[in-house]
Amino acid sequence: MLVDGHGRVVDYLRISVTQRCNFRCKYCMPTTPFSWVPRENLLSFEELFEFVKVAIDGGVNKIRITGGEPLVRKDLEKFIKMISGYAPNIDLAMTTNGFLLAPIADRLKAAGLKRLNLSLDTLVPERALNLAQKDVLASVLAGYDAALKAGLKVKLNTVALKGVNDDELISLLEFARENGSQIRFIEYMENSHADTELVGLKSSEILAIISQKYKIKNIDKLPSAPATLYELSDGYKFGIIDPHKHDFCESCNRIRLSAEGLLIPCLYHEDALSIAKAMRARDIEAAKQILAKVLANKPKENRWSVGAENETSSRAFYHTGG
Ligand code: SAM
Ligand code: SF4
Repeated sequence: MLVDGHGRVVDYLRISVTQRCNFRCKYCMPTTPFSWVPRENLLSFEELFEFVKVAIDGGVNKIRITGGEPLVRKDLEKFIKMISGYAPNIDLAMTTNGFLLAPIADRLKAAGLKRLNLSLDTLVPERALNLAQKDVLASVLAGYDAALKAGLKVKLNTVALKGVNDDELISLLEFARENGSQIRFIEYMENSHADTELVGLKSSEILAIISQKYKIKNIDKLPSAPATLYELSDGYKFGIIDPHKHDFCESCNRIRLSAEGLLIPCLYHEDALSIAKAMRARDIEAAKQILAKVLANKPKENRWSVGAENETSSRAFYHTGG
């Protein structure tokens, strides 16, 4: 079992397989980063997999592939197959913007992917174009459809933004419900890479909008789930991910691995240690020691949850994987 310096069990690994992306979402990377990590600095899937085995053997039972946009990395299926071949029962999921999903949803499922989180902030094509800075909606919806048809369980992620999609939260929720998906509204996380004019909705504001039409019941949060769940009177459940909440980090069970081999203990803070050298040398003992150090030094909480509400993280979420 992997336990951090604050006694929290860590059983969830999020792997950002690339920081590149085919979108430029305004809350994430509105301007092209001036320096991508050069390809030669990326760990190969074989090298990433060496660490995945260390993590699984240590007690990780949930892995999420993310990015940047994971589907822009070539041969992603191969990596999914490696993980599911090693640990067929692992909860293997991916977060994607869905743009490249339609033609390969079936193959991802066959490779062993079980679940998807698809980012969908609006159902209005012009708004999607404005947010992602590309005409994306039709392809994203085709990807969603293909994933459902392939039998993947899909959740929708929506970043709730004032004056951008706050008038659409109910339609998005109803769209998700019609398609049998849970929707999770994410509070905007202030970061120095985003468009500075964006203002996020707080969870109380999201709830106030939904309760204009629906009666909402609060359900207990699963200890390690980031989303607080709510239920409508017809039994449909939706979530709100509120990293500004004071107890958000209390049950944090995750660590993150970046494409160039940085092992990152917290989405907010800059601390990280590299396992790249160890993995390139297939030095499993060294990787285990680095993992132990990262766990021992995992921060207790992010700064937003301790009242520094307007602070801006310098972390790029396209780098760490959101
Ligand atoms: N490209 C994929 C996607 O967009 O789904 C995966 C990576 S993205 C960084 C992961 C998640 O982080 C997405 O659901 C995205 O909406 C969310 N995200 C990115 N920047 C954010 C921000 N500033 N605040 C809140 N959520 C953010
Ligand atoms: Fe790309 Fe995802 Fe960031 Fe949008 S949120 S720019 S899709 S990494």
